[in-house]
Amino acid sequence: MEVKTSLLDNMIGVGDMVLLEPLNEDSFIENLRNRFDHNEIYTYIGSVVISMNPYRSLPIYTPQKVEEYRNRNFYELSPHIYALADEAYRSLRDQDKDQCILITGESGAGKTEASKLVMSYVAAVCGKGQEVNKVKEQLLQSNPVLEAFGNAKTMRNDNSSRFGKYMDIEFDFKGDPLGGVISNYLLEKSRVCKQPRGERNFHIFYQLLSGASDDTLMKLKLDRDFSKYNYLSLDSANVNGLDDAASFRTVRIVGFMEAEVQSVLELVAAVLKLGNIEFKPESRINGFDESRVKDKNGETIEMCELLGIEQSVLERAFSYRTVEAKMEKMSTTLNVAQAYYARDALAKNLYSRLFSWLVTRINESIKAQAKTRHKVMGVLDIYGFEIFEDNSFEQFIINYCNEKLQQIFIELTLREEQEEYIREDIEWTNIEYFNNAVICDLIENNQNGILAMLDEECLRPGTVTDDTFLDKLNTICAEHQHFESRLSKNSKFLTDHSLPHSCFRIQHYAGKVLYRVEGFVDKNNDLLYRDLSQAMYKATHSLMRQLFPEGNPAKVNLKRPPTAGFQFKASVGVLMKNLQTKNPNYIRCIKPNDKKVAHIFTDSLVCHQVRYLGLMENVRVRRAGYAFRQPYESCLERYKMLCKKTWPQWRGPTRDGVEVLLTDCSVPSEEFAYGRSKIFIRNPRTLFTLEERRRA
Ligand code: ATP
Ligand code: MG
Repeated sequence: MEVKTSLLDNMIGVGDMVLLEPLNEDSFIENLRNRFDHNEIYTYIGSVVISMNPYRSLPIYTPQKVEEYRNRNFYELSPHIYALADEAYRSLRDQDKDQCILITGESGAGKTEASKLVMSYVAAVCGKGQEVNKVKEQLLQSNPVLEAFGNAKTMRNDNSSRFGKYMDIEFDFKGDPLGGVISNYLLEKSRVCKQPRGERNFHIFYQLLSGASDDTLMKLKLDRDFSKYNYLSLDSANVNGLDDAASFRTVRIVGFMEAEVQSVLELVAAVLKLGNIEFKPESRINGFDESRVKDKNGETIEMCELLGIEQSVLERAFSYRTVEAKMEKMSTTLNVAQAYYARDALAKNLYSRLFSWLVTRINESIKAQAKTRHKVMGVLDIYGFEIFEDNSFEQFIINYCNEKLQQIFIELTLREEQEEYIREDIEWTNIEYFNNAVICDLIENNQNGILAMLDEECLRPGTVTDDTFLDKLNTICAEHQHFESRLSKNSKFLTDHSLPHSCFRIQHYAGKVLYRVEGFVDKNNDLLYRDLSQAMYKATHSLMRQLFPEGNPAKVNLKRPPTAGFQFKASVGVLMKNLQTKNPNYIRCIKPNDKKVAHIFTDSLVCHQVRYLGLMENVRVRRAGYAFRQPYESCLERYKMLCKKTWPQWRGPTRDGVEVLLTDCSVPSEEFAYGRSKIFIRNPRTLFTLEERRRA
């Protein structure tokens, strides 16, 4: 059999950056551009796949393509995300190794699409039969519903994931899928009440209003007109290329009971209604304003009817707040601003709890049945790195998560490389690389990390504001910085007097980001007045009650719930530990332009991403020792024609055959090393020389 190495045959540009000569940033970008211009959106760095977002559908995901890549060796065909998926699946099935697919890149770079391509490829090649097909279908169907509730149109991406998602797909020993488990990470719930200009709320609101039947809307007491709802932004309600009504139909088919769907939609409607509740001040004798619900259009009544809540209970919870301390209970009044704050806090909590409930519910329907699981493949698709003009707590959290992923990339790529050398018994030399551990530490250090300081500030008695938090940050980080900079000259917390008011800046691995502290304390606290959770718990709507268990008077808990930052840090920690136990496969997504359009490749933008993703370093790591490696069989098969002794058929161990071959071709011995199963070639030029001789 002729072993085809398409990486070297008929290739547009160079399919594996490791073979790029000369290697520099310009040639790297030029190679990406050349390939992109010829619809080759995938390029390798060794086993890492770089994926350029084409912003249009290419005919490269057909069933024929799936067949082409199925059971083929990684380097046999031209680079494709299917090759990575196939390799991961086969090592899981044949070598018993848990796998994880780590997809990174900034917002709009194509992570979610890539994760779906991997999942659909694996679904296409694994197992057959009625039962297995049902499992596959359910796994794939979890996507539309999660995207409807967790994605939104942003300036960067019309379908931006506003939550992090990690999905473990479980397989039995034959490699047939058994089921899956999804974990979700911090939904950007502030979007429920307010969206930046040009952006939208979560898709589901628009999908429901445009796609539901008149009858459904009537039951939900909703109006089709987006403009009736305060929580829906108007300037971008219709998005080109998004068919909200059609999406609504796909969302509905996921394996839920009709009654459950209805109950979920009632809560979605309740959020919209909540946003329309307004307040007016009612003056009291002592001069304080006390808030009262201003019911112009019956929204409060309708919401109460929808959820089975007594109107007076809800209204009271918007006017008074009970403060409990030890054995005492006190009632204080809410002014209008506080009432709006309480309303929005309720809407955000309701929506994000509903989202988490959906994930739990989906997990119930996709979880593996009785059979014992054997191996898992984890697919991670998390919100990409974000740098806006105005960055808040959400961006801080998102970017922290991306720092952690970058760190795991650095650690595992190096470790993997090192391990391969050890496995193959080849000497390893250390490589210098940028390690972002300092940035992670600045954020997550238990004593003086930014998250710890934020928590400390949130829990401190007395007047706590965003500015007191910033003062603390400036003092402590500056001191720490001073200390650090003496040690490493590597400050990542950037203070200078040119910073705008109420801001701090961090030098992330992907660039400098300016954060505005406004809202940090509040979002981290994530407080919901107990009177409101108690009012929700009194609802006859059973899902609503379920979402507010702390409203149960029998379970009054005076302990503060953990802060948002604390919870996030803990769940990211668990995720990282989990990923470290698996064999990683990387997809690095790149966005070719800022306009969300096809055919445009903006050099400066791509160059920036190539830099911060550390792709050049990645190539250097791969090339530091030996640029190219190939199993003995493949090497012999491909080049045996260059030497009489090995042609047409070498008899004996393939390793010896390769030795005879290379000696005969007069390749200098320092140019290669013999591993246990592979030949390692130091310089790409050596390979090219062999290739030229082969073609001659
Ligand atoms: P975010 O971090 O905002 O969630 P993302 O990296 O997940 O961003 P995607 O939603 O996957 O980005 O991609 C954005 C858009 O780019 C998609 O909606 C789709 O239109 C287009 N796109 C991405 N990948 C591909 C692809 N392989 N083929 C065709 N179009 C694609
Ligand atoms: Mg996404």
